[in-house]
Amino acid sequence: MLAMSKWFTPTPFRYGKRNGFFAKADSVQPHANGGDNNKNNGSNKKKVVVVGSGWAGLGAANHLCNQVKCEMSWLRFSFQGFDVTVLDGGDGLGSPDNAGIQGFWYPYQNIFSLVDELGIKPFTNWTRSAQYSEEGLEVEFPVYQELPQLPTPLGTLYYTQFARLPLLDRLTSLPLMAAVIDFDNTDVAWRKYDSITARELFKQFGCSERLFQDVFGPLLQVGLFAPAEQCSAAATLGLLYYLILAHQKHFDVVFCRGTTKEKIFEPWVESLKAKGGEILEDRKVTDLIFNEETGCITEVVCGKEIYNADAVIFAVGIATLQEIIRKSAALCTREEFLKVLNLAGIDVVTVKLQLDRKITIPNPSNASAGFDDFFGWTFFDLNAIYDEHKDDPVTVIEADFYHANELLPLKDELVVEKVTPYLSKCIKDLESATVVEKEIGRFPKRLTHFFPGSYKYMMRGSTSFPNLFMAGDWIINRHGSWSQEKSYVTGLEAANRVVDYLEEGSFAKIIPVEEDEPHIEALRNLNRRLNEILDQVPLSGYFLQ
Ligand SMILES: Cc1cc2nc3c(=O)[nH]c(=O)nc-3n(C[C@H](O)[C@H](O)[C@H](O)COP(=O)(O)OP(=O)(O)OC[C@H]3O[C@@H](n4cnc5c(N)ncnc54)[C@H](O)[C@@H]3O)c2cc1C
Repeated sequence: MLAMSKWFTPTPFRYGKRNGFFAKADSVQPHANGGDNNKNNGSNKKKVVVVGSGWAGLGAANHLCNQVKCEMSWLRFSFQGFDVTVLDGGDGLGSPDNAGIQGFWYPYQNIFSLVDELGIKPFTNWTRSAQYSEEGLEVEFPVYQELPQLPTPLGTLYYTQFARLPLLDRLTSLPLMAAVIDFDNTDVAWRKYDSITARELFKQFGCSERLFQDVFGPLLQVGLFAPAEQCSAAATLGLLYYLILAHQKHFDVVFCRGTTKEKIFEPWVESLKAKGGEILEDRKVTDLIFNEETGCITEVVCGKEIYNADAVIFAVGIATLQEIIRKSAALCTREEFLKVLNLAGIDVVTVKLQLDRKITIPNPSNASAGFDDFFGWTFFDLNAIYDEHKDDPVTVIEADFYHANELLPLKDELVVEKVTPYLSKCIKDLESATVVEKEIGRFPKRLTHFFPGSYKYMMRGSTSFPNLFMAGDWIINRHGSWSQEKSYVTGLEAANRVVDYLEEGSFAKIIPVEEDEPHIEALRNLNRRLNEILDQVPLSGYFLQ
């Protein structure tokens, strides 16, 4: 808890002077449907509006709803918890449901801890996976935690089963460890490596053509969702370290035994409602109103409804935020929001197929890329992952295609026609089966594109509005996590910023990523010292780095 004296802070004076150009005042209504966001109820509860209900939004809301009423009868003021309203204007609560199958890797410790807190058991066991190229099976990944642990990167090199790649090619990955050591996830490291492409990075560090084409390139196409020439080297090093290199067991993965929505988000939303959180769907944010004197956001506008706010958290993806910025007079006044208009999203197409018979898929989770270089994709044996398909007499597959610009405009039949030959290269028996049912999902600009040079446009958790905070997998932080775990962690960080700003409640405990192994830590320290010495050399900053 914060110091008790902070509980004496009276509800901030609400200034009448507004900024932000939205519909005429008489056409805008204070929100009062269902919840009590704008009702006073005689309570001093501070109102927090969270925009977005993915991992980031619900993560923030969860912590704020956990801040229970704290009565102090001998004091005049008491902390009564927060009034939390979540507004979602997207595909619905926990939208990742419809957008692909999501893996949860070993270092997702904050998410695993949340799931324990919710008392649910949504996951499969640790799962083996494989990677394919046009030539067929390339790599099989075991469950690394079941094997004796070796210092990184030896375990990854030794236990990973390469079907075709010669040892010499594999060994050309070793010099890349120098860049991994140098990239310590600081602002300096991001700026140093963000301007070059992943392909350039692999080239500079002596990676063989075959290792790049058959392993690293495809891995990136499913990890950062774009071809290596379009990925930032900084993001590449950050992701590689977090998911693969930091510790041997980090690449172990589990999946939800049904959709993420059904297995995690639905029970989570119920638990939030039980704690008093108000969760509203079909609310597209169109603008914000801020007070010119304090610079603080006072209301969130959703078309004709407005929501009072003492603090606001934006937890939406890049494409959504860009849409909001273009409509919002308030956000257009700020540099950090205008910069977001330079960022980009990546298209996703998901393909769920039911076949007329049972066929063999050796591993539940698989990745592939490299065919024509158009897109990368993951495919999953849903009979092995989802409870509902466990005993099906037929095979159900889901394949998620990233950077799927060329698939996006096609009709369903054409999508299936186009992708089946790709899948057949990886699943031998597919050719002998017939597709009896198909479900195609199209998600334009859904994924964050970490393109070279994008770091300088990305936002941080705080903004120039003192009470507006940001969360999501594309928000700069120093935790070191990625994707869902990062979104959840930035949600907790945003909740902590709210607690700090409103001076009420307690801070969320965020589990840090596991420490570097001792030899990596020692090498990083040495490297930092060397860099400091090099910085002293005359003209060291003269040449283009
Ligand atoms: C196909 C696919 C596969 C993936 N695979 C993995 C994986 O294996 N492992 C992994 O960790 N991550 C994976 N990811 C990434 C992961 O899904 C994201 O990192 C994570 O979901 C981001 O969470 P978020 O809360 O930041 O954003 P989102 O989940 O995008 O949430 C944003 C929220 O904003 C809402 N919204 C949209 N428009 C508006 C609006 N106008 N007003 C208000 N709200 C709005 C949406 O409905 C949604 O609730 C994958 C993503 C995709 C698409």
